[in-house]
Amino acid sequence: MKILIVGGGIAGFTLALLLHKKGFKPHVFEAAGEIRPLGLGINLLPHSTKVLDEIGVLPDMATQSIETKEASFYNRFGQHIYSEPLGLAAGYEQPQLSIHRADIQQPLIDAFLARAGADHFHLGHRCTSVEQDEDSATVHFENQETGAQLPSWTGDAVISTEGIHSAIRRQFHPEEGDPVYSGVNMWRGVVVCKPFLSGATMTRVGWLSTGKMVIYPVRDNVDGKGSQLINWVAELETPDYKDKRDWNKPGRLEDFIGHFDDMAFNWLDIPDMIRRTESIFEFPMVDQDPLDRWTEGLVTLMGDAAHPMYPRGSNGAGQAIMDAKYLAEVLNLDSDPREVLKAYEVERLPATSKVVLTNRSTPPDAVLQVVFERTGDKPFDNIEDVVSRDELVAITSRYKQVAGYDLKQLKG
Ligand SMILES: Cc1cc2nc3c(=O)[nH]c(=O)nc-3n(C[C@H](O)[C@H](O)[C@H](O)COP(=O)(O)OP(=O)(O)OC[C@H]3O[C@@H](n4cnc5c(N)ncnc54)[C@H](O)[C@@H]3O)c2cc1C
Repeated sequence: MKILIVGGGIAGFTLALLLHKKGFKPHVFEAAGEIRPLGLGINLLPHSTKVLDEIGVLPDMATQSIETKEASFYNRFGQHIYSEPLGLAAGYEQPQLSIHRADIQQPLIDAFLARAGADHFHLGHRCTSVEQDEDSATVHFENQETGAQLPSWTGDAVISTEGIHSAIRRQFHPEEGDPVYSGVNMWRGVVVCKPFLSGATMTRVGWLSTGKMVIYPVRDNVDGKGSQLINWVAELETPDYKDKRDWNKPGRLEDFIGHFDDMAFNWLDIPDMIRRTESIFEFPMVDQDPLDRWTEGLVTLMGDAAHPMYPRGSNGAGQAIMDAKYLAEVLNLDSDPREVLKAYEVERLPATSKVVLTNRSTPPDAVLQVVFERTGDKPFDNIEDVVSRDELVAITSRYKQVAGYDLKQLKG
């Protein structure tokens, strides 16, 4: 069975490697003419690192990343609200990794090229549309740089892993329109700093209305003197944002720094960290309402193409990987692809829709919202007077269940 995977990101290559392991010879088509180390930090939760381990790429990723040990939450005055262990430290069999997106993508590509051969990876192929008949589906391509039409490819099934700007999703759901702005804009960067807190802490500070930070290290000892590459995201409720959703769009310090200038704490000087960042990027927080269907006959959607979500639960890459895992489990060389793609949708569409909706309402950073609202955005004397530890545990535990990485679920 010939599987065509459109989009050479995390979903695309995870699926390609899983299918290759089962004897398929999939082809991957990527719009970009060359692979560049694009993007910044991402967290890979234990459910997804388990899959990456199964395809043999986890060791490479683990050496390039930080094994996340805890999540810590602070208000904008630097007061500690709550911490909980993560990954191995929380008893999982697989680690949680804080990692640069490029350090996920490159090992996936290297493994695929080594196993499947360069003739199965097609750079510079931007999908423009897909058509199908009873027995096959044909993908049409153009050259990303020149717009010149390229030869079309026909296969037994087509999986769109094109990310948030999927041409195939747009073709199947023309009424839908562009991803919708959440009201929160994000500025992001990476910068070399001395380790802070445990040196492996995913840290969230403040709240969206007045300015929230997410900060975690993604590479260790980058200067031979023990410094780390720190990934940060500043998030702010604002009607002002650049309409173009481009991961590489430069951002301007003066547009947001005023909201973070007071966050100079004894455990990390946040404004200094931001000011020392050479390249700042801006990206509006967007998602789409869950679709009622992903699959049309021999073609389906996966990853961000299927379920773009707010990055408030470290789940964009993880859910993409879980999609790939499920489809690869149910697809066999002698399967009827129509049936299998539908079965994949029946399993993964409701599961990921819950994550999309929970990321809007009560992702883990709801811990910060509760404290912000109950204190009226003032410092507190004793956190237990504001919110009990049990209540905070309940927020993060519920999210783990929704997103499929609850400890008991994974071990069972
Ligand atoms: C350049 C870039 C930078 C990113 N940076 C971050 C980041 O810093 N932090 C973060 O949390 N998430 C980032 N993301 C998103 C994150 O990678 C995804 O949320 C997650 O990994 C899900 O992966 P995916 O494979 O579904 O989509 P993606 O990782 O977005 O991969 C989609 C792939 O499809 C390709 N593509 C798009 N359109 C077409 C087309 N028409 N034809 C062929 N190929 C196409 C894209 O070039 C890309 O390689 C980034 C994505 C990209 C593309």
